[in-house]
Formats: sequence, C-alpha cells, structure tokens
Amino acid sequence: MAAPLLRFFGKVSRQLTQPWCSCRPFLRHGSSPAAGFPPLQTYSEEEDMMREAVRKYAQERIAPFVSQMDENSTMDPEVIRSLFEQGLMGIEINPKYGGTGSSFFSSILVIEELAKVDPSISVLCDIQNTLINTLMVKLGTEEQKEKYLPRLASDMVGSFCLSEAGSGSDAFSLKTRAEKRGGQYVINGSKMWISNAEYAGVFLVMANADPSAGYRGITCFIVDRDTEGLHIGKNENKLGLRASSTCSLVFDNVTVGEKSVLGEVGQGYKYAIGMLNEGRIGIAAQMLGLAQGCFDHTVPYTKQRVQFGKRIFDFQAMQHQISHVATQLEAARLLTYNAARLREAGRPFIKEACMAKYFSSEVATLTTSKCIEWMGGVGFTKDYPIEKYYRDCKIGTIYEGTTNIQLSTIAKYIGQEYD
Ligand SMILES: Cc1cc2nc3c(=O)[nH]c(=O)nc-3n(C[C@H](O)[C@H](O)[C@H](O)COP(=O)(O)OP(=O)(O)OC[C@H]3O[C@@H](n4cnc5c(N)ncnc54)[C@H](O)[C@@H]3O)c2cc1C
Repeated sequence: MAAPLLRFFGKVSRQLTQPWCSCRPFLRHGSSPAAGFPPLQTYSEEEDMMREAVRKYAQERIAPFVSQMDENSTMDPEVIRSLFEQGLMGIEINPKYGGTGSSFFSSILVIEELAKVDPSISVLCDIQNTLINTLMVKLGTEEQKEKYLPRLASDMVGSFCLSEAGSGSDAFSLKTRAEKRGGQYVINGSKMWISNAEYAGVFLVMANADPSAGYRGITCFIVDRDTEGLHIGKNENKLGLRASSTCSLVFDNVTVGEKSVLGEVGQGYKYAIGMLNEGRIGIAAQMLGLAQGCFDHTVPYTKQRVQFGKRIFDFQAMQHQISHVATQLEAARLLTYNAARLREAGRPFIKEACMAKYFSSEVATLTTSKCIEWMGGVGFTKDYPIEKYYRDCKIGTIYEGTTNIQLSTIAKYIGQEYD
C-alpha cells in the first residue's frame, strides 16, 4: 500500500506550491479560514499527510470556484478533472486498475476535508468512492473491472440509481422493470434524484427483473450513458448542494446484455442496502466537514468583530455557545471515525453508521444556524460563505436514508440487543 500512497502524495504535493492562506479580513468567499482543530491522536502518519494534502488541494483548486458554481448550479469541469488528477476519485481502487490503493478510512477523511470547502464536491467524491467504486470492486467480474475501474479512477463519474418518484424511503418498492428477452434485458421505468447524472458516464441502476419475487427480483445493471433509450432529465433547482447535479432518468426500452448485470440477478436489494450502510458513514463525514468548515470561517470573525468596545468572542454568552458547538463537532467526529474504523476492521457497524449520519446531520444543522447568528447581519448575506453551508446542510437529514429511517434502524438494533 505504501507505494501508491507515496505516488498519491507525490502527485498532490507537485500541484501545491502556492501558499493557501489569502488572509483577507473576515474571510469572505474564496478566502481560507485559519486551520481548524489540531490533528487528533488517532490519525496515522499517512492519514495525517493525506488530510493535509487534500486540505491544501481543496483550498487552492476548489475554493476559488465555490461561490460561482453555487450561483450557476454547475460544477466546473476543471474541478472534476482535478479530482481525478489528484487520485481522489479512485481512493480504494487497486493501483493495478489505476487507483490510489488506499483505505476506506482515507476516503472518509477526504470526504470530510472536501466538504469543509464545498459539500457539493464532497458528495461527488463520496458517491464515486463509497458506492460506485465499492460496488464495482466487490461485485464486478474481471471483465467488468478491467472495463470500468481504470475509467472510474481516471475520468468517468458514476451515478447510483435507486430512488424513484414513488419509492424513496420505501426504496425496494421500485417500479423500474428489467425484462429478460433472450440473452438481453430490456429496462423500462424512471428514476429520480440521481446525483451527478449530468456528467456521469455510467449508471448503476436498480431494476426489478422478477416482479413476482417482490424485492428479491431487484437486480443491479451497469448502464453506459450513451445507451439508446436512456434519457437524462433536467437538473433540479435545489435549496442547497446546487453545484451537484440531481436529475431524473427515463429508461425507454434500454437494452443491455447479461454481461451488464453487476453481481447476481435478484441480489440488488442486498447490494443497495449494503452500500448505503457504508455510504452513510460518507454522508456523516460530509456533514462533519461542512460543519467544521463553517465553524472555521466563523470563529475568526468573532475574534475580529468589536461591539461595546470588546471582541464579540470575549462575551461569555458567545464563548459558551461556541464551546457547545465545538463539543458537538468533536462528538460527531468521534462517532463518524468510530463507524469508519469498525467498517474497516470488518466488525459490525450498521448501528454506528446510522448514529454517525443522524448525529452529524443534526450537528451540521446546529452549527450552520449558530454561525449565521454569530456573524450577525453579514452572515445572512452572500458576501460570506456561511449562508451556503446553512443551505447545503439540510440534505444530510434526507439522502441515503432520512433521519427517521436512521432512527428506526438504530431502534431495530437496540431492540435486538435487549432481546
Ligand atoms: C439532492 C438529492 C440527491 C439525491 N441523490 C440520490 C442518488 O444519487 N441516488 C438515489 O437513488 N437517490 C438519491 N436521492 C434520493 C433520496 O435518497 C431520497 O430523497 C430519500 O431516500 C427520501 O425519499 P423521499 O424523498 O421519497 O422521501 P419520503 O420517503 O417520501 O419521506 C418523506 C418523509 O416521511 C418520512 N418517512 C417515510 N417513511 C417513514 C417511516 N417508515 N417511518 C418514519 N418516517 C418515515 C421520512 O423520514 C421523511 O421525513 C437524492 C435526494 C436528493 C434530495
């Protein structure tokens, strides 16, 4: 593992020669906050190097575009290209397929660091690494791996397609059908809310190949973007995460061969739930990074802004609130890292992943709301990045399982523990 990581860090450090802190007063858009929390003791040296490299990369190559991408609801193609260039889109992919060959925990750290700067970029990297690449690595045939993994690591974005207009939380009631005709499957139906669809080159699509078997007919298909009959709808006009495209898809007699089945026919529901269990740790990291990024922008402001002849940071009422939020952030970090470490150690992690996602989303909501208050009127304007974090955080309580769904899963495990 050392060699690919060294290669990875080599790539990053060559790119990053400029000082990252522009040190403008009060940290308006595009400027960088002072370094946040000191590294925790639980990072390995490699993990710490990766955090630092990604932090610098995000400040230099992403931060200057964030406000504009949000405003225009688009993701700058140069930013996507640079994510691939830095090895951040194939973090766990084996170097023999052109990946970085690093760990799940490293993916979580990368997602967190990117979210400090832009949660939209973070979710692009999150879905690619924790859902698409993982499904392909775990389930792909050698032929599928050889075809897709080098592209996923170097220039092809993937989308995960489960939700439909009528099936969100109740995901396995999906209506998209895959009818077997000879050696082919003909897919008909539609999907909704598909992240990154605007620029994805490949779609992992859950469709039912045997409706008589209920959810046990759900099968995962690999569908290339240029497949005839696949129509990509318009980008949703959203409250937050605006640079991340979210589109509907229509499948009109989309015909794929048997070689496009990923894993086994009828096992798609297991794959989807398995991936989402892991993916929730990614969303927890996204929310954690988002909240930390917002906090890091805000606290320096409170140390500069003077009212009643004092820095507003020096009022005890402010200090208690700041300390409370900092403690919540630390708790969210520990929950998230614990879930990630459990997953990496091959230990049971589902309850802990749900707790991490649920709690980090709540902390992100609290932190961004408090940060706007601490900034006063300017926090409410688009001159500062705080209002964007506030808008972006809301998705944490919705995708990859709403807060209620996390709480229900946690309760299921608690119930079993006390049987
Ligand atoms: C920006 C964005 C990106 C997305 N990206 C993707 C993607 O890439 N791929 C993909 O497949 N999907 C994606 N989704 C879909 C997302 O996963 C769903 O929106 C989510 O699962 C919730 O489904 P729903 O919107 O249909 O809400 P519903 O399921 O209708 O839920 C509405 C409310 O009812 C509550 N509720 C529902 N059932 C229960 C229950 N049993 N007990 C208690 N409360 C319940 C929910 O908690 C929620 O508060 C995305 C969504 C958004 C908004």
